[in-house]
Amino acid sequence: MVAGRAGYAETLHAHWRQEFGDVRMLHAETTPFQKLEVFETPGFGAVMALDGVIQTTTADEFVYHEMMVHPPMLAHGGAKRVLIIGGGDGGCLREALKHPVERVTLVEIDAAVIAASKRFLPTLAAGGFSDPRARIVVGDGLAFVAATTETFDVILVDSTDPEGPGEALFTEAFYADCARALAPHGVLATQCGVPFLQPAGVTASFRRLSAAFSDVTFSVCAVPTYVGGLMTLGWASNDPGLRRLGVESLRIRAQAAGLSTRYYTPEVHLAAFALPGYIQELLVP
Ligand code: SAM
Repeated sequence: MVAGRAGYAETLHAHWRQEFGDVRMLHAETTPFQKLEVFETPGFGAVMALDGVIQTTTADEFVYHEMMVHPPMLAHGGAKRVLIIGGGDGGCLREALKHPVERVTLVEIDAAVIAASKRFLPTLAAGGFSDPRARIVVGDGLAFVAATTETFDVILVDSTDPEGPGEALFTEAFYADCARALAPHGVLATQCGVPFLQPAGVTASFRRLSAAFSDVTFSVCAVPTYVGGLMTLGWASNDPGLRRLGVESLRIRAQAAGLSTRYYTPEVHLAAFALPGYIQELLVP
């Protein structure tokens, strides 16, 4: 950080941190659920933090959102009903709406996140909040999934880390309700943190997802501001065939959807499931 300029240091890890220099605070409020901050940076554009933890930046969000959405959507191949839990920044919504879906339901607990994203990070949703196929519910994702009688082809758990309101979205009870709400051949994807720095979280997610689904693994992607190496995205389904598609089938499906992406490619899709040894070691039953 340059002396005399404002900096913003993330407070996620106890003994190591990333810090943005030369920031300009655009918005700060304490919502009923969390502390919400948005600031402008020279290198990463607009950045949103919740309770001091970086959620997304306009510069690198495409990595995470494309890899959360397109592998499950293209592996399924015919997803019409999509459920996003969390994701109030609108990035997953934008990517899901690139597919020929009938409806994307987004359940975000904090209306302030949606409002701040629309105002300060409009490229995230890119108009998705007003798409006629989008249904926006402000409420607790845990309660929504427990109560719903609908089924979904793809469920995307785009949550905060397992502290604060996001904690419930990493529990066995939540995953069991998701399994019930998933249509046959459906698939759930969920953000599971950075395994080098949060190894216990990956093992816990593996065990809890495995209690509800028969085919559980992780994919990896490199998001610059989720520091500490590769991040993991949990994958849970009862159909192992969803992970056996070849690159040609994925390419045909991506072309049919007219997908335009900057990180996702069919080759990256397949490669993302090749786990380095130190991550494989964490998948212990
Ligand atoms: N991409 C980010 C990441 O990987 O850390 C997360 C994006 S998004 C901003 C996470 C959202 O989950 C937040 O807006 C938060 O309010 C929401 N959230 C947390 N707990 C929730 C719950 N129980 N139900 C619904 N949404 C929740």
